[in-house]
Amino acid sequence: MDHRLSSDYEDLRKSVEAFARDVVAPVAAEHYEAHTFPYDVVRRMGEMGLFGLPFPEEFGGMGGDYFALCLALEELARVDSSVAITLEAAVSLGAMPIYRFGTDEQKATWLPRLTSGEMLAGFGLTEPGGGTDAGAARTTAVLDGDEWVINGTKSFITNSGTQITGFVTVLAVTGRDDAGRPELSTIIVPSGTPGFTVSEPYSKVGWNSSDTHELGFVDCRVPASNLLGERGRGYAQFLQILDEGRIAIAALSVGLAQGCVDESVRYLHERHAFGKPLEAYQSLDFMVADMEVRAHTARVAYYDAGSRMLAGEPFKKQAAIAKLHASDAAVENARWATQIFGGYGFMNEYAVARFWRDCKVLEIGEGTNEVQRMLIARELGLGR
Ligand SMILES: Cc1cc2nc3c(=O)[nH]c(=O)nc-3n(C[C@H](O)[C@H](O)[C@H](O)COP(=O)(O)OP(=O)(O)OC[C@H]3O[C@@H](n4cnc5c(N)ncnc54)[C@H](O)[C@@H]3O)c2cc1C
Repeated sequence: MDHRLSSDYEDLRKSVEAFARDVVAPVAAEHYEAHTFPYDVVRRMGEMGLFGLPFPEEFGGMGGDYFALCLALEELARVDSSVAITLEAAVSLGAMPIYRFGTDEQKATWLPRLTSGEMLAGFGLTEPGGGTDAGAARTTAVLDGDEWVINGTKSFITNSGTQITGFVTVLAVTGRDDAGRPELSTIIVPSGTPGFTVSEPYSKVGWNSSDTHELGFVDCRVPASNLLGERGRGYAQFLQILDEGRIAIAALSVGLAQGCVDESVRYLHERHAFGKPLEAYQSLDFMVADMEVRAHTARVAYYDAGSRMLAGEPFKKQAAIAKLHASDAAVENARWATQIFGGYGFMNEYAVARFWRDCKVLEIGEGTNEVQRMLIARELGLGR
């Protein structure tokens, strides 16, 4: 058993680390303050092949795997979680459902532009009435001749309203069985379809330069062929996508947790108090040591889940553990990093202030941490 990276993975990690340092970090605060989407950074990420990491070359991908994506997410989140979540949502939530469940025609239509980063896609599961209880979706899609007619609202959808968003996959009730249970299916709704509206961006606590909107569907008609995968399998599809996505969110969380360590170490060397550098104070050094332990153990947890996934083994429990542990580590590390920075830690121009604002959502997105505990408990045979 070995959790050290192969030379291919290490080369990728290093090249994304350099990209994050040289291209992402210099403009991160500016975009964050202005709440602007970093189109230029996204374009350059596309040129690097990051959007195509886990996809085969025949679809314009890099022929890598999901773990490679996770390594890239970790490195990006060390400096900017908004850029990291843009990539995560684009690949794991946007392109992956098309790759996993799409017809040959859907793959040929959408994947080359998604894997190049030319186009982004959204993942429409959450609704105003609730995200955790996804099976209670109220959005409906009724087949009328050879068209689906969609009505409903989706909340908090990432990458759904950029200038390069091509479509959103929407989970909708497409029927009911004799007992009244909903049949859930997934339907591709291209941007600009009449009846599909994208609201103004949310005013968020963090992830300021990531794109998030509420989406409305009023008698929105798309061809019947826009059904993604089998009718009635929508819920299962979304759960599969979210299982994988948890490893990606864990990687992103580790990046933020490690970014807190990076910034804190630098600051302890630079800043002086009572005639000594802060690093002379062991209580502060111990804070950073504890932060490093959290980042390291969370990394091991996502490497473990990722290696099981790549080996084709069950990984649901390990992914939930990794997501839970890593997001908690991110929140805890951001708390201590801002403390180490003192008053400067409360100033938005410092990266640790961004980390503080960006960390909380990691305990909420892609299944709240209560959901992760439910999954872990269920895997232990509890609460079925
Ligand atoms: C910035 C951002 C981006 C997002 N991007 C997307 C996206 O691209 N696509 C998408 O579909 N969604 C997206 N989401 C939505 C996100 O996945 C949901 O917010 C999350 O799943 C929680 O759903 P909810 O907000 O409706 O909370 P609720 O489901 O209403 O939950 C409220 C609280 O109750 C708890 N809870 C609920 N049920 C139980 C239970 N049975 N047992 C114990 N506790 C329970 C939850 O853990 C939570 O603490 C995004 C959210 C944010 C903030």
